[in-house]
Amino acid sequence: MTYPSTQLFIDGQWQDAADGRTLAVFNPATGREIGRVAHAGIADLDRALAAAQKGFEVWRDVPAIERARTMRRAAALMRERAEAIAAVLTQENGKPLPEARAEALASADIIEWFADEGLRVYGRIVPSRSLAVRQLVLKDPVGPVAAFTPWNFPINQVVRKLSAALASGCSMLVKAPEETPAAPAALIRAFADAGVPAGVVGLVYGNPAEISAYLIPHPVVRKVTFTGSTPVGKQLAALAGQHMKRVTMELGGHAPVIVCEDADVQLAVKAAGAAKFRNAGQVCISPTRFLVHRSVQNEFAEALTAYARGLQVGDGLADGTQMGPLANPRRLTAMAELTRDAVEQGARLLAGGERIGEAGNFWQPTILNDVPLGARVFNDEPFGPMAAIRPFDQLEEAIAEANRLAYGLAGYAYTRSLKNAHLLSQRVEVGMLWVNQPASPSAELPFGGIKDSGYGSEGGPEAMEAYLNTRAVSITNV
Ligand code: NAD
Repeated sequence: MTYPSTQLFIDGQWQDAADGRTLAVFNPATGREIGRVAHAGIADLDRALAAAQKGFEVWRDVPAIERARTMRRAAALMRERAEAIAAVLTQENGKPLPEARAEALASADIIEWFADEGLRVYGRIVPSRSLAVRQLVLKDPVGPVAAFTPWNFPINQVVRKLSAALASGCSMLVKAPEETPAAPAALIRAFADAGVPAGVVGLVYGNPAEISAYLIPHPVVRKVTFTGSTPVGKQLAALAGQHMKRVTMELGGHAPVIVCEDADVQLAVKAAGAAKFRNAGQVCISPTRFLVHRSVQNEFAEALTAYARGLQVGDGLADGTQMGPLANPRRLTAMAELTRDAVEQGARLLAGGERIGEAGNFWQPTILNDVPLGARVFNDEPFGPMAAIRPFDQLEEAIAEANRLAYGLAGYAYTRSLKNAHLLSQRVEVGMLWVNQPASPSAELPFGGIKDSGYGSEGGPEAMEAYLNTRAVSITNV
């Protein structure tokens, strides 16, 4: 299986870093180096910024319908190339090939939805207080954007930002993840091959902290968008605030799953189980705190344990693999520490809890029951294949626990009662709540968190707003 090395994309050209520096890329299923990625220095960033400014000045004047046509060509290229891109994504990230294929294909849907939404960036004409006056509300692109994206969904995390930015008329310089560089590069290549003018899209890799510290304050950058952990997001938002830059922050979560007394327990296990172990749990909206009514706790815990034990864990390229390795060795260490801490504090380990083998970052699907509230896994985002279960007696109690943490990204609930569903929809403090179903984060719905999970949205019309300035213009006839 081949794996490409990845270059920077600056001013419409694929190129090495000016000083020739590169970083190694590893396959998390084997631990072996599979390729290299270019490491940008300040000289590269300066060229990329100048190109982003030039690209913005071209792209903002391209009619929305033309921008949409170019974006649709990029979507078609992603569909055509999905199979090859999926193989690359699996090698660098570890996720099973069907998940990688789905991510590549979903990017085409997202691009198309935003391409169309770009046609509907309407301003307003507001009735004025004098017949001689016309009052206009105009929507303009904010300017060149700096985007920072993580390794868990290397394509998806870029495409949501890039599609909304391009549809709005912005240019974007992406700092994509060094651990999984080739799949996002394939996405950028699709846009370049589709005919996006030079400078409109740029791609760099390197030292994340150095690059963000340079790009965010830079006068060319007018907006910052970041997906990653809450502590890093807070640092970057603070820096952006000092320079009065617009910001979108998609940060961590610790999604509660409330399984009520009247839930369809088998549905809850099937939906939440599939969601839990997708991408080996390295998903910001992954279900993590399972709050289960005491009357159905045993039934739920046993069925989820059977589900977890039945999963086929292996190399994502192998036929039949349902869960791949963790994306990097840091997650293995985190899983071991969270498991040890929970068990020491009295949780019952129902499944998993161990590393698998010596090569690669494989971790057993892990189920912990009766987890004390003080256990770290009930407080820190696990970001791995670990489900932590606790019983509740009254729904109010479960809602209070769901809202206890500072996170507020995703939530899930299972109930047959309309009354419960309404109460949950009103009281659970999350940006996205799914009731009796797995997550369905489609392009047309807002995607984002509240509280410490960030602000701004990467779906729906709200995602376009993030890349637009609203201006009032009043014109008087003389
Ligand atoms: P991390 O906090 O070091 O990095 C998270 C992401 O932020 C990475 O992509 C990294 O390159 C980037 N980053 C880190 N410091 C940065 C900086 N100063 N400037 C710009 N970018 C920076 O953690 P990690 O070990 O890579 O990932 C683990 C944690 O990150 C998880 O526990 C999870 O909370 C979070 N995470 C969240 C998402 C998400 O989808 N929201 C995705 C990946 C990771």
